[in-house]
Amino acid sequence: MEKLRYFDHAATTATKEEVVKEMLPYFTLNFGNASSIYSIGRKSKRAVEDARDKVANAIGAGPKEIYFTSCGSESDNLAIKGVAYANRERGNHIITTKIEHPAVLHTCQNLEKQGFNVTYLNVDSEGLISLKELEEAITDKTILISVMFANNEIGTIEPIKEIGEIAKKHNIYFHTDAVQAIGNVRINVNELNIDLLSMSAHKFYGPKGMGALYVRTGVKFDKIQDGGHQERNKRAGTENVAGIVGMGKAIELAYENFDEYNKKLTNLRDYYISQVEEKIPYIKLNGHRTKRLPGNANISFRFIEGESLLLNLDMKGICASSGSACTSGSLDPSHVLLAIGLPHEIAHGSLRITIGEENTKEDIDFLVNTLIEVVERLRNMSPLYEDFIKNR
Ligand SMILES: *Cc1c(COP(=O)(O)O)cnc(C)c1O
Repeated sequence: MEKLRYFDHAATTATKEEVVKEMLPYFTLNFGNASSIYSIGRKSKRAVEDARDKVANAIGAGPKEIYFTSCGSESDNLAIKGVAYANRERGNHIITTKIEHPAVLHTCQNLEKQGFNVTYLNVDSEGLISLKELEEAITDKTILISVMFANNEIGTIEPIKEIGEIAKKHNIYFHTDAVQAIGNVRINVNELNIDLLSMSAHKFYGPKGMGALYVRTGVKFDKIQDGGHQERNKRAGTENVAGIVGMGKAIELAYENFDEYNKKLTNLRDYYISQVEEKIPYIKLNGHRTKRLPGNANISFRFIEGESLLLNLDMKGICASSGSACTSGSLDPSHVLLAIGLPHEIAHGSLRITIGEENTKEDIDFLVNTLIEVVERLRNMSPLYEDFIKNR
């Protein structure tokens, strides 16, 4: 059995040992409900507020602007539905993009069924939205702009500062799904004019089932889950104290080691891309070459099925992700790859690797060598490739 080589950090990350260690006492010794007034309850409450400070500090926000949720998806739902419902009398128009995560896309589609109008902005061949198209889409009914910070599939980082300025100029709330950006990009919500921001702990070496939403003071939003008065009456449900503690520790660690981590990932990513470009023909890098997440490389291999590629890599102990079919339970290629204009057959042969802290140059060499061998073998079995070579 080959050693496991994990290149799917955009899907999830392992929780760091130090994070688990901080969480453990809150399952057992300090199990008190953070809303209880006796001492072990107050202890939990203090741990929750400490973590809130850490999450707020990481993005330049105040602690009263952080709401803990159960995941990135919930944060996206709370941000978009929360603003939509609370500002209905001001307008019913929302602007987002065609390349959002399903947690944003499906939330917007759901709102369309409830009488909201949604504009889905196009992106160019590198995955960037057009600021001009954004400004032209704004009407006097627009209440919210929701554009992701960085795309989870192709890694492209959107012009967030410019979007924030446009939103501010038109007095429209700006939400960003920053689930992939936290820990990978330095973020200050004030400098970037962000009003709402979603994050998820398991994407930055924290626990699964733990998210947070930043909401700027003064932004009108409704809760979407009824129940108790937790999270300043905006998110009912007993606080996940251990999870919250883990999220706080993980985000603190992420920004403590930021420069070193970022440099390491960027170097490995660029090394991988240059190796593939040098050694494997008929490939294409998807997303922007430099405006991209440090650990993300998404490459299309012509004449190859992404699924076959993944299965062959798996046999060598390599975990990666494809931009198509079965993984997402549908036969259509990824909506993101189609939005950047890839034809179906090329989108189907895409491989996303997302590098993380435990990866080494040796891992990349192993991956590239495996790819050279597997891609050649699969192409030799492809009638399309045979035709292509004959007619060249
Ligand atoms: C993973 C992800 C989400 C969803 O986060 P969960 O915590 O898994 O619900 C939302 N948006 C983006 C961009 C993501 O990568």
